[in-house]
Amino acid sequence: METQGPKALPSPHNPLSQATIVIGAGLGGCAAAIALHHHGHKVICVLDKVREFGRLGDSLGLGENALKLLSHWNCDVDEIKRIGNQAPNMKIRRWSDGKVLAEQPLMDMAGYIGHRGDYHDVFLNWVSERNIPIRMGSEVIAYEDIDPQPIITLKSGEKLSADIIIAADGIKSLARPLVLKMRDDPVNSGYACFRAFFKPDQSIRQDPTCNTYLQGDCVNFWIGPDTHLVQNTLRGGEEFNWILTHKDDGDVPESWFQPGDMDEVRRLVTDLDPTIAEIVRRTQSCLDWKICYREPLPTWVSEGSHRIALLGDSCHAHLPTSAQGASQAVESAGCLATCLGLVRGREEVRIATRAYEKLRFRRTRESQSNGEDLRDRWHGVLKEVDEEREIDPEDVKVKNGWLYAFDAEEDARTRWKTIREVVEGEFLAGKISPLC
Ligand SMILES: Cc1cc2nc3c(=O)[nH]c(=O)nc-3n(C[C@H](O)[C@H](O)[C@H](O)COP(=O)(O)OP(=O)(O)OC[C@H]3O[C@@H](n4cnc5c(N)ncnc54)[C@H](O)[C@@H]3O)c2cc1C
Repeated sequence: METQGPKALPSPHNPLSQATIVIGAGLGGCAAAIALHHHGHKVICVLDKVREFGRLGDSLGLGENALKLLSHWNCDVDEIKRIGNQAPNMKIRRWSDGKVLAEQPLMDMAGYIGHRGDYHDVFLNWVSERNIPIRMGSEVIAYEDIDPQPIITLKSGEKLSADIIIAADGIKSLARPLVLKMRDDPVNSGYACFRAFFKPDQSIRQDPTCNTYLQGDCVNFWIGPDTHLVQNTLRGGEEFNWILTHKDDGDVPESWFQPGDMDEVRRLVTDLDPTIAEIVRRTQSCLDWKICYREPLPTWVSEGSHRIALLGDSCHAHLPTSAQGASQAVESAGCLATCLGLVRGREEVRIATRAYEKLRFRRTRESQSNGEDLRDRWHGVLKEVDEEREIDPEDVKVKNGWLYAFDAEEDARTRWKTIREVVEGEFLAGKISPLC
């Protein structure tokens, strides 16, 4: 295939402004483009391999930690609030009979829960409003990690270069093996989720055995030994989503498109609270989503030029119980854009990218572990007490409040001087310390 040379870049007017390319127009990539633009950097384009986006996935949470940054970047976050679940509280219930074990504000749990596709549309619009080109059908297949401008090659053969390349290319990141030279080994968590999102038809709506949770926006969790089910009703009761997490040692591929076995689902809900079990049983189809861990990566930045940085699921994927995958990607975007604004010249990009990974690593690990802790508490608590004993609501409550109070940009500014010194010291010594 004939290839073209790298495209010449417009030179930015601001000497500290960096010309950037973002790979992946998911929520993480969009957030990166918006944050960089806000901090005065030139975003040449956001590339995505798919030709068009569908309304993919189902429920996704965006916490106040993400919304406050988006708001700083002049995004109208009321658009997110309007389309998300409007229920004030969520209830955590006993698997077998639906008894309420705890109730807490939705904002303490997942923040704003909405359909991933709807939130994604809002993010894509924010990018377009800033006149940042989103190039669909542009799959990156190769990276050249060279200073001062790394080069990427698209499947079409076209080559592009920029001062900084941000790879927000998701959980199956190609940047991870090609840029970081890290193998992509998903570790089976021992759990999988069956997931369904649909508009219940009239026969379901009118059936009192099915319609308890179709009367308006609501969120409920049923927890039991080694299992839990989340229900999220959106748009005033029009759309219904359930996600059933269960033990699974099989080898279902890790994919958002893998069909699930409804017979298996029906078997798993035989002893579930009847007020929710019937609508689950009558669901036509579902997806089977294998939950895999990724080992923490010792670096998120390219070794040669230090100008290719990973962001979002490509370097810090989360379990669904954390409800923080997208929010942490937004935080990382804010941190990276802030660091790039704090360096003294274009040749100091490497200090910014290395500071970024150091600033973000521990925070993302804590947020990842929070999701694991919650799942284990939920699955364990009902093993230890018999049905007659009371469960302390604190044992089952979602404890995400501390995550939401954080401001990733302020954190970067506050810790910048110290981290900068560490990074400079490492460059002087000729050795960048691994993150783990
Ligand atoms: C189809 C899908 C459904 C999802 N559903 C849910 C859900 O229901 N609930 C939930 O909590 N989370 C869901 N997620 C995950 C959630 O969106 C992410 O955890 C979070 O938004 C952070 O995403 P990200 O931008 O880092 O990665 P992603 O959202 O995965 O986005 C990565 C983007 O990079 C693009 N890309 C990948 N490789 C290349 C390449 N080589 N060249 C160019 N572009 C490339 C992909 O097409 C994709 O658009 C889903 C993700 C996907 C992809």
